[in-house]
Amino acid sequence: MDLCFFLLIIVISLNLVLGLLIDALAEMRAQSSMKAQELEDKCFICDISKKELLSENMSFTHHTTREHNVQAYLFYILYV
Ligand SMILES: [Zn+2]
Repeated sequence: MDLCFFLLIIVISLNLVLGLLIDALAEMRAQSSMKAQELEDKCFICDISKKELLSENMSFTHHTTREHNVQAYLFYILYV
């Protein structure tokens, strides 16, 4: 009888820890997905969204690769 009690307590405790772990991983995955979506939809340098650029008839790809290229800013900072 005592063994069954301790087994039950251990199983409940392990399920509790596993539930917390799964919740934490799901939250981390959601945050990572949100950050990736934000990097994909906004310019990293000036924080202008893709929709705003398209509404002004500007190409988002041209803006992020020519006008606000992250690598160019990184090379500039390393140069200075
Ligand atoms: Zn920009």
